[in-house]
Amino acid sequence: MSEQIDTVVIGGGQAGLAASYFLTQQGREHIVLEQHRIGEAWRSGRWDSFTLVTPNWALDLPGGAYSGADPDGFMPRANIVAYLEQYAEIFKAPVKSGVRVTAVDRNPDGSYRVATCDSEYEADNVIVATGGFQLPKIPDFSLNISPKVEQIHSGQYRNPEVLPPGAVLVVGSGQSGCQLAEELQQSGRRVYLTVGSAGRVPRRYRGEDAFWWLLKLGFFDQTIEQLPTPQARFAANPQVTGKNGGHTLNLHQFAQDGIVLLGHLRGADGSTLTLATDLAENMAKSDAQSANFMNNSDAWVKKAGLDMPEDEETRAIELAQWEPLPEATELDLDKSDITTIVWAGGYRADYSIVHLPILGQDGYPVHLGGVTEYPGLYFLGLPWLSKRKSPLLYGVGDDAAHIVEHIAGRVCVGR
Ligand SMILES: Cc1cc2nc3c(=O)[nH]c(=O)nc-3n(C[C@H](O)[C@H](O)[C@H](O)COP(=O)(O)OP(=O)(O)OC[C@H]3O[C@@H](n4cnc5c(N)ncnc54)[C@H](O)[C@@H]3O)c2cc1C
Repeated sequence: MSEQIDTVVIGGGQAGLAASYFLTQQGREHIVLEQHRIGEAWRSGRWDSFTLVTPNWALDLPGGAYSGADPDGFMPRANIVAYLEQYAEIFKAPVKSGVRVTAVDRNPDGSYRVATCDSEYEADNVIVATGGFQLPKIPDFSLNISPKVEQIHSGQYRNPEVLPPGAVLVVGSGQSGCQLAEELQQSGRRVYLTVGSAGRVPRRYRGEDAFWWLLKLGFFDQTIEQLPTPQARFAANPQVTGKNGGHTLNLHQFAQDGIVLLGHLRGADGSTLTLATDLAENMAKSDAQSANFMNNSDAWVKKAGLDMPEDEETRAIELAQWEPLPEATELDLDKSDITTIVWAGGYRADYSIVHLPILGQDGYPVHLGGVTEYPGLYFLGLPWLSKRKSPLLYGVGDDAAHIVEHIAGRVCVGR
């Protein structure tokens, strides 16, 4: 026997909760189905020392903006979960935890059948808010790597102590990869890091945080159409961290500290990994982003006519000329005593619970601002749903408002 309900929201992360906030405001009957617990991605998908990269003042869920005593701090994992739980409590979000949605099908009358592990719903509207970072992205050639080496994804990494003794190879130099490489190196491990084309920004410049600057520079309000190419949306986020009060992650400094930097990984055979000789090129890309960031910030200050202190110290560090590093073409895992590989190349999406031809070529649902061609079916929390800020705690609220407004304007025929 299925339950009739106006709207089903799938997922109890920040996106599902933000949608629930606006649905509650509208007095609209709905339920939020969460397979595990509120904020599960932060509980079980992040490492022990994880902190947000975005400052606390950027925790801006609708009706639940951060009001704590440390707006310039960076929240650790447990506090993010607590923030989301308290947020749900503010408006008594109707969350049903421990309920996994197994299928969403469209009925002939245009409504949706939402099957779960223990029940079924018939709904006029379905908001899929199951996250945009679901399946670990690991290359197929990882299967060729010697079974003596333990392989985990960054989402499975917890802390250095639980890894087998020996050196660690971190694959991917985006935010997660750099943060994990830093932590492993500081724990006394020998660390190898393959470097891709992710850029860098200084944590602070001219007295303000990088996130503040990036907002002022319009970075987070960019749409896909404003990027040089649509592919550019898959670029990694700038290398920076919120750990220990927040600091810059600089690959040159990593090398000085003893982390072995390598070009990007091209293939594997047993204990031999093949590397591209693009380390210098990729380091240059990271340096260029930092230089651009500072130049654009300076231009913005000038244009705004503001009296902000110059920051020669940061400029000097960020623009320093470093010795070029040797480029290796191969890495022998045995000889390097590498016992663990941490894949930090990001995530793929998985919307296979939706039994409709919704996916575009990039593997993400086709939509306009989260609204699909199937009336009543919505997606929320996807990267670039409307803007760069869409998947962030700072940005998901605008998209949620848009979708719930769209639901309010719908006329459901046939039911
Ligand atoms: C490593 C990392 C660091 C990040 N750092 C920041 C940061 O510093 N600042 C920032 O603003 N953003 C950050 N983000 C981006 C973003 O805030 C997070 O990814 C956030 O978790 C997205 O929230 P969400 O609600 O869209 O998805 P999720 O948090 O993934 O929530 C989706 C929920 O849906 C549930 N679910 C999935 N499938 C089903 C199903 N079939 N049935 C029922 N429930 C289901 C899941 O259990 C989960 O609880 C980071 C992301 C990553 C991956």
